[in-house]
Amino acid sequence: MSVSADTRSKTTIVAIDGPAASGKSTVSREVARVLGWTYVDSGSFYRGITWKALHAGVDARDAAAVQTLLARSRWAFPLRDRSVVFTVDGEEPGDALRGPEVREAVSDVAALPDVRAFVNAQLRAMRRYAPLVMEGRDIGTVVFPDADFKFYLDASPEERARRRARDLAAQEGAVDVAQVLASLERRDGKDSTRREAPLRPASDARIIDSTAMGVDEVVALIVAVVRSGGDAI
Ligand code: C5P
Repeated sequence: MSVSADTRSKTTIVAIDGPAASGKSTVSREVARVLGWTYVDSGSFYRGITWKALHAGVDARDAAAVQTLLARSRWAFPLRDRSVVFTVDGEEPGDALRGPEVREAVSDVAALPDVRAFVNAQLRAMRRYAPLVMEGRDIGTVVFPDADFKFYLDASPEERARRRARDLAAQEGAVDVAQVLASLERRDGKDSTRREAPLRPASDARIIDSTAMGVDEVVALIVAVVRSGGDAI
């Protein structure tokens, strides 16, 4: 197959999955920018629901309470600068989505079947913004099993912890890499052992181990694959 990506159908979807701190966000955003396509960060939706629950004083593991909160809140998913953002009851949480409270609770919220059903419905509706690059944990396996291109971005736990620690140090001051590693492993453990949509590569995903690769290299590889219609190595 050597169809140019620009001439593919309007619903072209690139799915980029992988564990926490694998570099997915930076890479996915940049791939979308280079291609001029829409970028969707599915994790931000799970973080948004978690943020809303914490704000409302709802226990993140209480399925019924989170479901009631979801049903009562007004969600909107507008497009801004070619990225899908969201507001809940008119508010945009911004940097709070990346804070420690949300980070530690999000995997519990994301394990709730009603939450996944709600987010999946929203994500599938994003087809209207295609062509798009969507990152997450289950995009190639569950949300868009028919995605045109599927990538699974990984890196060793130690390298991921180093990268995350570097980002956190810039935002929150000095951090302990061992603690960051423990937090990542906790979240990965929950994400890969949950009953619904566990974190795992799709059988037809290209696995990219970025442990020894720079962001530019990973972006160039993905863009080359997409532009060649799947022919690039
Ligand atoms: O990608 P990010 O780290 O922002 O995702 C936060 C959390 O949201 C993940 O740890 C996971 O629990 C959940 N998530 C998910 N499915 C996705 C994206 C994120 O379960 N497609």
